[in-house]
Amino acid sequence: MIIKDKEFVKYISAQDLTGRIKELASAINTDYEDKRPLFIAILNGSFMFAADLLKEVDVACEISFVKVASYEEMESSGNVKQLIGLNEPIFNKDVIIIEDIVDTGRTISKILDEFLSLGANSVEVITLLQKPNSNELGDKIKYIGFDIPDAFVLGYGLDYDGLGRNLKDIYQLKV
Ligand code: 5GP
Repeated sequence: MIIKDKEFVKYISAQDLTGRIKELASAINTDYEDKRPLFIAILNGSFMFAADLLKEVDVACEISFVKVASYEEMESSGNVKQLIGLNEPIFNKDVIIIEDIVDTGRTISKILDEFLSLGANSVEVITLLQKPNSNELGDKIKYIGFDIPDAFVLGYGLDYDGLGRNLKDIYQLKV
């Protein structure tokens, strides 16, 4: 499939995404059985993952959304920008951050620090995809959907220059 000027091939099917997301939700349902987590999804990339995941979560929970822009076109710009739209009180909450993909881990580190400084009782991260570059951050991420190689992906919420977020499967840049 051609998106803008690049060729992509199907990499993770919608069916495989659904199956794995059910497993992740089931782990959360067990781990948070007697808690009331506050899920905070990082927009825009995690919107589809968050929606599908939360439909499978059956513990009482709150859901909110924030935005952070840290990526330009196909390589990490390195300068993580501000969190926008955090209106929920975080103090004493058991926060679960929902991310689409962790690459270097810079974005998620910054967000984790920010939430902990706001007095969260606990902060865990769930990411649909993780690339190998984030190794030293590995143990900070509690729930990982798929470990993937260091190649650009799009679809299922993830974009290439604004395009491809609507695709129901995940595609990888063809080399
Ligand atoms: P990090 O701060 O971990 O290096 O980068 C994380 C962010 O980079 C993700 O939230 C996502 O927005 C973006 N990103 C990293 N890898 C990819 C990729 O392969 N495809 C897309 N579309 N975005 C990516």
